[in-house]
Amino acid sequence: MGPLNEEVLITLLPETLVPSTATSKLQHLNTWVQDCISSHPTCRPPASLRFRYPTRLLCVNQPGDTHIHLIETTTTTTTTPISGPYNVLSYRWGAFQPVKLLKLTRPTFLTTGIPISSLPQTLMDAITTTRAMSISFLWIDALCIIQDSPADWASEARTMADVYGHAHLSLAASHNIDSTGGLFPKRSGSSRGQPIPIRFPTNPEWALPHHDFQLVEHNFWNNRVEDAPLNTRGWVVQERILAPRTVHFGFDGPLFECRETRLSLTRLDLSIGQSARRLILPVRARLERRPRAFAKYWAAVVQYYTGRDLSFGSDRPVAIAGIARALQAVAGKKMEYMAGMWSRGLLRWLLWEAAERGGGEAGRYRAPSWSWLAVGGRVFYDTDLIQGFRYLKTGAHAKVVKWRLVTGDGTEFGAMTAGYLQLRVVLIPVDIEKDGTVFDARLGGESLSGTGLGRWILEGHLSWSWDAELDEAMVRRNNQQGGSIFAMPIMETAPTKSSEDVCLYALLIERVNLRGQNDVYRRVGILTVFGTTREAKADEVLDRDKTAIRLI
Ligand SMILES: [Zn+2]
Repeated sequence: MGPLNEEVLITLLPETLVPSTATSKLQHLNTWVQDCISSHPTCRPPASLRFRYPTRLLCVNQPGDTHIHLIETTTTTTTTPISGPYNVLSYRWGAFQPVKLLKLTRPTFLTTGIPISSLPQTLMDAITTTRAMSISFLWIDALCIIQDSPADWASEARTMADVYGHAHLSLAASHNIDSTGGLFPKRSGSSRGQPIPIRFPTNPEWALPHHDFQLVEHNFWNNRVEDAPLNTRGWVVQERILAPRTVHFGFDGPLFECRETRLSLTRLDLSIGQSARRLILPVRARLERRPRAFAKYWAAVVQYYTGRDLSFGSDRPVAIAGIARALQAVAGKKMEYMAGMWSRGLLRWLLWEAAERGGGEAGRYRAPSWSWLAVGGRVFYDTDLIQGFRYLKTGAHAKVVKWRLVTGDGTEFGAMTAGYLQLRVVLIPVDIEKDGTVFDARLGGESLSGTGLGRWILEGHLSWSWDAELDEAMVRRNNQQGGSIFAMPIMETAPTKSSEDVCLYALLIERVNLRGQNDVYRRVGILTVFGTTREAKADEVLDRDKTAIRLI
């Protein structure tokens, strides 16, 4: 027998009874949810969050009724007052969505109701499940937001933090690429998820007592949930993070996830592997008191979110706004949300790194260039950097003077149409030459006197990270008189007791040719300079050596 590697690694767990009927599976949902509500302190919504119902809900409380009814919670036309919890459905529409709430269908939905038989299988199953849990209300986007009213869509989009945040349980159709698959897909012929019972014979030489075990797949959770078709989608990120608890439906039955636990019917140990679980929002109480935890949390959200796909790149600022809104409610007015970043420690938030170059869509404005919302593809933050530890010195090199963002709806969470940062910074020219097919970038040495950084930058190791591939046109512009590309230092680390290594972090910016203005720049990348205290020169960076610029 060879050494165990990742692929063949198995987990041995004592065997437990596996319920088999659909009803017993659904009964488990109530047990899981009740356990979470009664015994998980971190899953409870914070006291500061006032409960409110979504604008519209589907009333599903008549068992056997062939119709469900739309109700509007803000009007008084409903015959019975609304009380009790509601579930939400998280799913992929796909091309097939035969029944939608439209201006035209709304009166019928409110009076006669919606025939259940007209709905796609996933929606039907969500109704069955909600009824089986004895929950009266269900929220489904296609049936609760008026799909042909941009105004309704915009106002409802603003309430997503509440809709998901107050939900009793989110039902996630994790394995489906559209709404036709249902929550209870037929098991394929060879399901790898089924635990295999095995029995070890008693052997006095073994430390193991005699026991029955199950042989299960090691990477079970990642294969079933993280990599499931639903969870590759950018729009689903906020649904999953905002809902206090989610049940993922797939080929291996329901899998429960909340901030404190993950469960399956077979009670497998599901704690192995990466997950969005640590991002589930009711951690807010802790975030409130600890700015570093807040920063680390948001950096993790950005990294998780930017790794998911969006059909329209222009949705990038919008599909995360619900999480930002919920967090802002926790952080209070002192923490302003600005284009995917936060006003506290703003200079640090500027230091994101694009992992895939050139993912942005040309021609359509999404966000200012200094925001990660402006690019496509995965984005990373250095989590040590973002937490603002004491050994990181900010303020000396760059200073934010003011900022402005223009959004469609006038709130800081709306789709952006323009924006800028006004800064006072040290500008260091960047020389770029083309050597064969390779671009070679260097910092302009002669102009470093007075920056307090000269010796360090000349002797340190430079790591360039451009947001998009460098091209000939950019290099040509930079070769014209005065140059157009500059490094703009933001912060540096101080040596610690154990290490004399130091780092300087800078934005790479390019001057934008705007008529009559020569102080306007856009972000084109970041630069990290690694050095040691032997090289770094600790001259003061003086404000008189700084230039006022506008970053758009
Ligand atoms: Zn819980």
